[in-house]
Amino acid sequence: MLKTVDGFDRIGEENAFAVLARAGALAASGKDVINLGIGQPDFPTPPNIVDAAIKALRDGHHGYTDATGILPLREAVAADLHRRFSVDVNPGNILIVPGGKVTMFSAILMFGEPGVDILYPDPGFPIYRSMIEFTGARPIPVPIREENGFAFSAEETLSLITPQTRLIVLNSPANPCGGVTPKAEVDNLVAGLMDRPDIAILSDEIYDQMLYDGEEHVTLLSYPEIRDRVILLNGWSKTYAMTGWRLGYSVWPDELYQKARKLAVNAWSCVNTPAQFAALEALTGPQDAVGEMLSEFNARRKLVVRLLNDIPGVSCITPKGAFYAFPNISSTGFKAKELASALLEGPGVATIGGPDFGILGEGYIRLSYANSQENIREALNRMKTFISSA
Ligand code: PLP
Repeated sequence: MLKTVDGFDRIGEENAFAVLARAGALAASGKDVINLGIGQPDFPTPPNIVDAAIKALRDGHHGYTDATGILPLREAVAADLHRRFSVDVNPGNILIVPGGKVTMFSAILMFGEPGVDILYPDPGFPIYRSMIEFTGARPIPVPIREENGFAFSAEETLSLITPQTRLIVLNSPANPCGGVTPKAEVDNLVAGLMDRPDIAILSDEIYDQMLYDGEEHVTLLSYPEIRDRVILLNGWSKTYAMTGWRLGYSVWPDELYQKARKLAVNAWSCVNTPAQFAALEALTGPQDAVGEMLSEFNARRKLVVRLLNDIPGVSCITPKGAFYAFPNISSTGFKAKELASALLEGPGVATIGGPDFGILGEGYIRLSYANSQENIREALNRMKTFISSA
């Protein structure tokens, strides 16, 4: 028997991919499945971005790039952050990485080890906890509560800090609940962290452009008093409908940048070169497609919430960000994962059970509304019939 390191006995997964595979298998066997499971835009990548990648290939950009990414792209990321948030970021602190996920992998690997506590949102993106467990650190869930509009609470977060805490993971706008944390909460958290300069913050802002109802994004980079310990996770996957391109970027404080760069050199050398040129076009080319996708997501958001609240036993607060609804299904009589599985195998609607995002996800399911209004109507109709007759 081969003995691998203990971390591999603890590493987890993202059930959204298992649901995607099962939905695909059912569809291949002839079943009519509507997928509200996976969190990816259903729009194609805008054509100007695709063309930029093709041009890069034709122009002969076939080799490695610097491990940190091509300079024009890092400069474009810095300019974009400045344009949107008026923050100054040195391109020398930016790392282009193969997907948003890679930044959480790198940051958690950098801080986690036995004896260390890492705080993360629950319900939250499942890879936070998985990676924390992998490193041997103690995962400390920070509850994300429906009664709080699924925003995180600074007070509760600060109360969970121990002398062993080294890293706090934040995510707003959030997956899976669609919550957006108000500026006052972020202010309070930052103020509360002033006496703990040894704690780093990983701020996952991958949905930062997916906000509704006039909400404005608050980036953790806009707090100069903690800039020396904020790691920003962001990327192109959601905003530009580029999940399959595997592109992301991080901003690291000076003290950590070389460590992150060396990890890149050891693990992936550099990001796919034509994809970097596509990312450059995404940031510097026309932004109309972003607004158009967002306005369609907004229409779907309203539709999905209205139809969910029309199902007996289901209630759903209106999410303010991302493209997920997180309805409370506790009065339907189903356990969350049982319901998600029954909906897929029965009426053919793929959703994800709340417990796949953490212990506090029981009583909820996640619906990604990255699907057409027609499909959303049909899926919710099937759900209503199924739940009403169960
Ligand atoms: N962070 C959050 C909160 C996400 O929901 C996702 C993807 O679903 C990611 C990061 C990962 O993004 P990527 O596909 O770019 O790795």
